[in-house]
Amino acid sequence: MKKIQPDSIQDWRAFASTLVIDGRPFIGGRRNDAYSNHFFDVISPVDSKVLAALPRCGGVEIGAAVAAARAVADSGVWSGWPVSKRSDLIRKFAQTIDANAHELAVLDTLQMGMPISSALADIALATQKLREVAEDVVRLHGHFLPGSTDSLSINMRTPQGVVAAITPWNFPVFVALGKIGPALATGNCLVLKPSEIAPLACLRLADLAAEAGIPPGVFNVVPGLGAEAGHALASSRQVDLLSFTGSTATGRLLMHAAADSNLKALHLELGGKSPQIVLDDCGDLEQLAQSLADGFMFNSGQLCVAGSRLIIPKGLESDLVPLIARKTSSWRHGCPLDPSTTLGPLATAQQVSNVKRLIDRAHAGGLSSLATEFAGSPGLPAPIIFHDVPSDAEIAQEEVFGPVAACMSFESDAEALALANGTRYGLVATVWCSNPARGWNLAQRVRAGATTVNTTTRFQGAPVQGAALEPFGESGFGAEGGLAGLLAYTRARHLKLNMPC
Ligand code: ADP
Repeated sequence: MKKIQPDSIQDWRAFASTLVIDGRPFIGGRRNDAYSNHFFDVISPVDSKVLAALPRCGGVEIGAAVAAARAVADSGVWSGWPVSKRSDLIRKFAQTIDANAHELAVLDTLQMGMPISSALADIALATQKLREVAEDVVRLHGHFLPGSTDSLSINMRTPQGVVAAITPWNFPVFVALGKIGPALATGNCLVLKPSEIAPLACLRLADLAAEAGIPPGVFNVVPGLGAEAGHALASSRQVDLLSFTGSTATGRLLMHAAADSNLKALHLELGGKSPQIVLDDCGDLEQLAQSLADGFMFNSGQLCVAGSRLIIPKGLESDLVPLIARKTSSWRHGCPLDPSTTLGPLATAQQVSNVKRLIDRAHAGGLSSLATEFAGSPGLPAPIIFHDVPSDAEIAQEEVFGPVAACMSFESDAEALALANGTRYGLVATVWCSNPARGWNLAQRVRAGATTVNTTTRFQGAPVQGAALEPFGESGFGAEGGLAGLLAYTRARHLKLNMPC
C-alpha cells in the first residue's frame, strides 16, 4: 500500500481506495479460508455501500481457533516466557499498530462512521494503554506465605488459559485492544470475535500482532454473527474466561451460555445510563454547558459511558438547558472522512431507527424537548434534549446510543444522589461543582465504576495511568484497567513444597 500522509477529505478518500480488504479468519498465525461459504455484508454508513462481504464463520472456525489457542496454552510455552519478554512484545505490538494507525483508523471510520480525527485519537489512546499494560504486567507478583520451617508456600498468579473476547462496534480497535493487551501480557491465548458491524480493523490487528512477533495460536480472530460465531465461542468448553463488551441483553445470553457449557469465568462490560450531576455552585455556565453537551455528543452518543442523564438544580434549568442545546452546535456534522468533522453518522440504519423510535416514544408520552441548531440528516437524527423528565421515563432509563439527553431536576444533594443512582446501570458518573469537598462526598456515594468531579472520564484531561473500574448493577462486572484489570486475566494459585529434613 502506498504510504501517504492524509490531511484532507480528498487524501483520506484516496487512501481508503487503496485498501485491500481481507475478511478471512486469522487462526494459528495466518489467514485461513473459512469453512463456511455463507457471507455477511459490512455496510459503510459513510455511503451506505457494501464495504466487504465476510465469511459467516460458525462452530467449525471457532472450534479451530479455540483449538489453536488451547494447544499453545497447554504447551506452557507462551505462559512460560519471562514476563519481561512478553512485555517487550506488547510494546513492539503497540509500535506496529502506531505505524499502521492510518489504515486502522480509516477502517473504523468506513465501518461505523466515527470521524477520522476521533478514530486516529482512539488508536493513539489504545496504544498508550497497551504500553501501560506492558509496564504494569512486570509488577504483578505472587508472594511467599509464612509457615513452618520445613515447607515453602507461595501464592502466585497464573494465566486463565484460553480467553475469548467478544467486542462491540462503537470503538472497534480501542475496545478490542483493551482486552487483547491484558490477556496476552498475562500469558493467556485469545480468540476474538469482533462485531459483525465493524470486524475489519480487528482482523488487521491479528496480522499486525504476527508482524510484531506474537507466536502462532496466541491471538486468533474469527469474524461472524453474534448468534453463530459469538454463541459458539461463548459455549465452548475449551474457553476458560470470556470477556465481553456490549449490550446488557447479550450479556445475559452469555451468562446462560457459560452456565450451560463449562461455567467459564466472565467479565461483562455492558450498558450504561450515566449521570452528570450539576450542583448549584457549579460556576461558569457557558463552560459547563459545553462540557455537559460533550458528554453525550461524543461519537454521536454511541458510547456506553455517555453522560446522557443531566441532573440539574431546580432554579438553574431555565438558564442551563437552552445553553446546553446551543453548545451542541459546536459539534460539526459531515462526512467522517473529513478531518474537521466531529459528528459522524450513526453506525447502521438499524441504529438510526432505534434512536428515532425512542425519541418518538418520549414525545408521544408527553415529554418536552429542546431542539438544537442542527436539523439532522438521514444518517443522524438531530441532537435533542428532553427536559423535566420523570426519572422513571423510558428516555431516562434506557440506553439510547444517539445524541440524546434527558434532564431531571432536584432541590437537595440527597435528591440529586437518588436520581443519579436511580437506574439499573452503574458505569460512570460526573459531578460538576465548585466546592471540592461537596463534590468528593457525592462522588463517593454514586454507584458507578468511575466517578469524576469537574471532568469527564473520556474527553477531558490526560487519562490516568493505573485507573481501574468495575461496573455496578446491570452494567456488568469484572475490573478493567490498571493492576486490577490485569489480575482479572489471571487466577490465584497456591503452591506448597514440603521439605522435611
Ligand atoms: P449491539 O446491539 O450494540 O450490536 P450486541 O451486544 O448485540 O450489541 O453486540 C456486541 C457483540 O456481541 C457483537 O460482537 C455481537 O456479534 C455479539 N453477540 C450478539 N449476540 C450474541 C450472542 N447471542 N452470543 C454471543 N455473542 C453475541
